[in-house]
Amino acid sequence: MFRKVLIANRGEIALRVIRACRELKISTVAVFSTADRDSLHVRLADESVCIGQPAPVQSYNYIARIISAAEVAGADAIHPGYGFLSENAHFAEVCASCGFTFIGPTADMIRAMGDKATARRTMGGAGLPVVPGSEGVIADVDEAASLARGIGFPVIVKAAAGGGGRGMRVAWDEKQLRAGFGIARAEAGAAFSNDAVYLEKYIASPRHIEFQLFGDSHGNLVHLGERECSVQRSHQKLIEEAPSPLLSAEQRGRIGALAVRGAAAIGYLNAGTMEFLFDQDGSFYFMEMNTRIQVEHPVTEEVTGLDLVKEQIQVAAGERLSLSQDEVEWRGHAIECRINAEDHEHGFRPSPGAVTYFYKPGGPGIRMDSHVYAGYTVPPHYDSMIGKLIARGTDRPEALRRMEIALEETIVEGIRTTIPFHLLALRDPAFRRGELDTHFVERLLKTEGRPVGAAAPAS
Ligand code: ADP
Repeated sequence: MFRKVLIANRGEIALRVIRACRELKISTVAVFSTADRDSLHVRLADESVCIGQPAPVQSYNYIARIISAAEVAGADAIHPGYGFLSENAHFAEVCASCGFTFIGPTADMIRAMGDKATARRTMGGAGLPVVPGSEGVIADVDEAASLARGIGFPVIVKAAAGGGGRGMRVAWDEKQLRAGFGIARAEAGAAFSNDAVYLEKYIASPRHIEFQLFGDSHGNLVHLGERECSVQRSHQKLIEEAPSPLLSAEQRGRIGALAVRGAAAIGYLNAGTMEFLFDQDGSFYFMEMNTRIQVEHPVTEEVTGLDLVKEQIQVAAGERLSLSQDEVEWRGHAIECRINAEDHEHGFRPSPGAVTYFYKPGGPGIRMDSHVYAGYTVPPHYDSMIGKLIARGTDRPEALRRMEIALEETIVEGIRTTIPFHLLALRDPAFRRGELDTHFVERLLKTEGRPVGAAAPAS
């Protein structure tokens, strides 16, 4: 097992990894930017190293500085968390060549899934249904138009290197496609330094359902069931639950086995998530695979009883997965609300600043993963998520009720948060019936007379 792990991240996920390391009796090294000096991950880690200025390019995305910190501290492995460098194949390579174990899949696996146009081809080849669309990246607008005529409108232009719901553009007809194609490309170039785009059929009211996968270096690869992530704003998830209210046990087994087959095609190692879009007619399509731990992993932990971050560390150290597919059991229901420092009454505009008072909810089945405390200042430089509230129950109604109570109990003063939005969503009759699709939030805000707001800026 590792002796010392450096956590190349911040916020709640840095805390999450520190806790897993402490359970495994591994020392921890936190890295932080000057904006995060007073962060809990810095306080709770055994050691910490300042790696630069607040801007991510000067700190959390600055590979050379992170590697230097690992060398100085004498770490033997690096956990990337999610976001930042977690899906950067070059970073995984640099870690390996400098003698640090990257806690995640190999650089080749990250690359294979990181280019989404290539991933579609690979997974199609493995027998997974993929959204009808282009074979690979598109050369120009004429090729896009002729492809779209073949597939049928509406279509969606997506960034091959995309992530976080950015770099996507829907076109309902050829005129819109011609007008939007260049913009989609420019957006992709600006956000990902790669302007390659591909095309997919736009599915009008899909559900987003994803499967958690896990592989070890002894040839074991399992799925841990699905998460329902249809509650999104601007393609970004706000509420997730496990299991999905839509899937039967038979579908879980069948689609899970397909997901495993797809991951096996690239010999997948460590934690990964395969995302699918489900059409109203019951058909489903592979959309992409995320090669890291996801924000919403706790709902899977709550229904399977597994610690996914501990599992990541153990598997990276060469140990076997702690269970086989037959041993995976799902119990009860779990739901997660992402609490963001945003004002939902004003288009979810960011609300950074000093938290003057903070009270975490409790009680049976309640878990709050958060790095916030009274006196903490939410910096404006990063993702606005300040915590994840997770509620578990024996069934969906109990989990929902516990979540509602926990949201009501939570006190965050000094900044605006998305707690009022979550209460609104949870009390919505369609939500309660499990009638969800990716436009649920838009409909809800419209009914309430609230603006949907612009997409979050690229970080
Ligand atoms: P990212 O990596 O940026 O999260 P995804 O490919 O996972 O991008 O897509 C994010 C969201 O965008 C999906 O959950 C879904 O809501 C929407 N989306 C993506 N592709 C399509 C499509 N072909 N049809 C309809 N919605 C889509």
